Amino acid sequence: MPTASGQRAADGVPARIPTKLPVLFRPPGRRNAMPFFFDPAYMLAIAPALLLGMWAQYRVRSTFTSASGEPAPLSGAAAARHILDSAGATDVAVERVPGQLTDHYDPRTKVLRLSDPVYSSRSLAAVGIAAHEAGHAIQDHSGYALMTLRNAAVGMANVGSGIGLTLFMMGLMGSIRPLAWAGIALFAATVFFQVVNLPVEIDASNRAKRQLVALGIVPQADMPHVNGVLNAAAWTYVAATLQSVLTLVYYASWLSHGERESEG
Ligand SMILES: [Zn+2]
Repeated sequence: MPTASGQRAADGVPARIPTKLPVLFRPPGRRNAMPFFFDPAYMLAIAPALLLGMWAQYRVRSTFTSASGEPAPLSGAAAARHILDSAGATDVAVERVPGQLTDHYDPRTKVLRLSDPVYSSRSLAAVGIAAHEAGHAIQDHSGYALMTLRNAAVGMANVGSGIGLTLFMMGLMGSIRPLAWAGIALFAATVFFQVVNLPVEIDASNRAKRQLVALGIVPQADMPHVNGVLNAAAWTYVAATLQSVLTLVYYASWLSHGERESEG
């Protein structure tokens, strides 16, 4: 799950993967602009994603608050345990983790970690989020192909976000275009991870919605509260992915434009 503050939560997604390149350097060829100056064209290019992201974060906060006030028969931890056991994933442990919306499933240790409020609270918000994380554990347990691909891409994405940005900026500062292109290619690895991650997130939520009703944890009539939280969370992932895609396109087209200018 993403956090309400816009930081990416664990959820199997390393929190240190930045979803965008820094805005504080100028495109080559704009000779009047200060180096490392705020780039308004970049902000304009990613504006649709920023607006979508703001809207999604607002929806996460408002739906979470409203669903937190709706009672559920089980705590988040008990709901997760019930869903895992009924899917045969009895080897997955459910643990408590500090923080808010820090809920995630760790596929390496087969541990589902629920934040304090989700772990113990008997609310529709808590069982909704717990069921979503249980959905990830079941994806892993059942060998869901995109989950496997996502887990394989995590390492690549980490490298891409760390070294990629550094190479890109070094390439720009030193006017070494192949280096900047290598940086772009590595950043593309993080974008690939985010694109693969999207259907994994949506599938986990769909599993959660089905299981909550099928196991009688949430009556069908109360599902709009759960759906509201999970759908809003999905939109934050869509917004973050869109922002990365637009960023990638912006800087790639910017570099190739500069190449055409210097050739002609
Ligand atoms: Zn998730």
